[in-house]
Amino acid sequence: MFDVIVVGGGPAGLSAALMLGRCRRRVLVCDDARPRNRFSRALHGFLTRDGTSPLELNTIGRAELEKYGVDWRSVHVETAVREGDLFRVTLAGTHEEHARFLLIATGVVDELPPIDGFRECYGTSIFHCPYCDGWENRDRRLAAFGQGKSGVQLALSLTTWSPHVTLLTNGGRLQSGALERLERNGVALVTSKLVRIEHEEGAMSAVAFEDRVEPIDALFFTTGQHPRCDLAETLGCTFNKKGTVETGTLSDTNVPGVFVAGDASRDAQFVVVAAAEGVKAALAINQALQREDLRS
Ligand SMILES: Cc1cc2nc3c(=O)[nH]c(=O)nc-3n(C[C@H](O)[C@H](O)[C@H](O)COP(=O)(O)OP(=O)(O)OC[C@H]3O[C@@H](n4cnc5c(N)ncnc54)[C@H](O)[C@@H]3O)c2cc1C
Repeated sequence: MFDVIVVGGGPAGLSAALMLGRCRRRVLVCDDARPRNRFSRALHGFLTRDGTSPLELNTIGRAELEKYGVDWRSVHVETAVREGDLFRVTLAGTHEEHARFLLIATGVVDELPPIDGFRECYGTSIFHCPYCDGWENRDRRLAAFGQGKSGVQLALSLTTWSPHVTLLTNGGRLQSGALERLERNGVALVTSKLVRIEHEEGAMSAVAFEDRVEPIDALFFTTGQHPRCDLAETLGCTFNKKGTVETGTLSDTNVPGVFVAGDASRDAQFVVVAAAEGVKAALAINQALQREDLRS
């Protein structure tokens, strides 16, 4: 029996496991090796780790767990259910483990548009987040791919990094007033449908539309995302409008004993935020264990 089972060994889960290990808790981390940023070559904006490969960061994090005796299993978690005071967690195959607390740090899945060349460029010249990859593409010819308000917001935001920004709506219409706002801020607009991304080994050079080709160096997109797994949902966690789990300041949820940290929870989606949420969850879990175990 474990004190805590951490599902997900990305920055959030690793960070929580590190702190819980240091609290001398019996911790099991289960991870099926599909971190969200595995397509990226370098992560940015994390103090002391700016430019590190995301997979390398996770490898270092995992190595740091060893001296604290944290158990690691490279396995998919299929289900988690509450049984009395414990959680019963089913790992792929038929194996089961039990724990007093559960931390879900399972991240999200990004929905990529089915456009020829998009997936090949993803992480190299196609990105989500200007804070993560805007600097590396400063002053280049940038495209914002998105529809409605979020597409317009992304395009306007990109003007912080480059004066050459084009909004691609892929056939979508603009709300009233949006065109004037784009024009006032020097953002070009293409509403035609995209046919393909022209690239060489992921480095894009142009976007081909039904009626023409536009030279573009990098594209940022805002489409949908969904939770990587349904553990939080089946346990009864409340979700917000963004589709992530509603959490308190210490990564607690509405379900007693269940904590959610990282991209799967409510806050901004950055590696450093995920790591911080993991630590906050660890603090809250350790304090809850102390409350249960210490004599009054
Ligand atoms: C292309 C790209 C570039 C990015 N660049 C940056 C950047 O430069 N800087 C930055 O701060 N952020 C960046 N991000 C965001 C960053 O990736 C996330 O904020 C961060 O990875 C969130 O960490 P996490 O631990 O919550 O989730 P993840 O890193 O996604 O880790 C979740 C882990 O849980 C595992 N898992 C999920 N379900 C199960 C299950 N049922 N059983 C077992 N294991 C499971 C997954 O396999 C995965 O290993 C980028 C994202 C993308 C997509």
